[in-house]
Amino acid sequence: MAILDSGYLLLSSIGLMIAGVGGLIIVSAGVLSLTGVVLALIYRRSKTILIPNITLFILGFLEGPVKQIAWLFKIDEVFMDQMVVDIRNRLYLNAFTKIAYEDRMIFLPQCLRDPKCPAPLEPEGIKCLSCGRCGIGMIKDYAEQLGSKVYIAPGSTLIKRMLKKYRPKAVLGVGCTLEVYEGTRLMASFGLPVQAVGLERDGCIDTRVDVYSLMEKIKAHSSLGKNYCIRDDPGLFALATRIQEMWDYSRPQKVRVKPVKK
Ligand code: SF4
Repeated sequence: MAILDSGYLLLSSIGLMIAGVGGLIIVSAGVLSLTGVVLALIYRRSKTILIPNITLFILGFLEGPVKQIAWLFKIDEVFMDQMVVDIRNRLYLNAFTKIAYEDRMIFLPQCLRDPKCPAPLEPEGIKCLSCGRCGIGMIKDYAEQLGSKVYIAPGSTLIKRMLKKYRPKAVLGVGCTLEVYEGTRLMASFGLPVQAVGLERDGCIDTRVDVYSLMEKIKAHSSLGKNYCIRDDPGLFALATRIQEMWDYSRPQKVRVKPVKK
């Protein structure tokens, strides 16, 4: 009888311990999820990201619960993903700008092209003919003059193939929120300094990107200073304005990009 009693006591203690640990994990997850939502609310208000590394950890580890609670505060999933991309951009900017232009790879989505784009699909992506119907030609010319490799990707398979083939040291990508969210996660997992620009108008065709942000990231380099801003660079600012206006007003034009001073 005494043996039965002590066995019962032992089992009850183990059960209580497991329940205690389980409860602690649930409470910790709840507290961390709420912290993630508070950080998102602060970001929504001021674009401030407090403790970026920890925020990224919480939003990655507890993505589901944080998004569910955030929804109660009218913060949608897309906003949360954009926040994560912004955090990755900030965390990797310094490392990205230290990489030489020649070692960078830039991926543009095919949906940015004009619907009447005459470019053929080749083994290394869509080959832009710089026809002037969309801004890609000028963006590509500019980045290639700096030495970067530019690809117009019809899908993620090409991106992975080019990464494997050319092994860049840094990557800059443009895409819809989901694409840049997944893309930055993948590049970060490869240990590659990554930067991303989300599409301003997404969809499957005739999409738009903020040309100023994109050109600024293409040119950003540690030799230009930590706070390089396109607004302080009249030449690049003027080029970005021409591209942006061409896209905004659908004015086809063929502009030769002047030789770039590195
Ligand atoms: S400039 Fe635009 S529309 Fe013209 S070939 Fe290049 S990607 Fe296609």
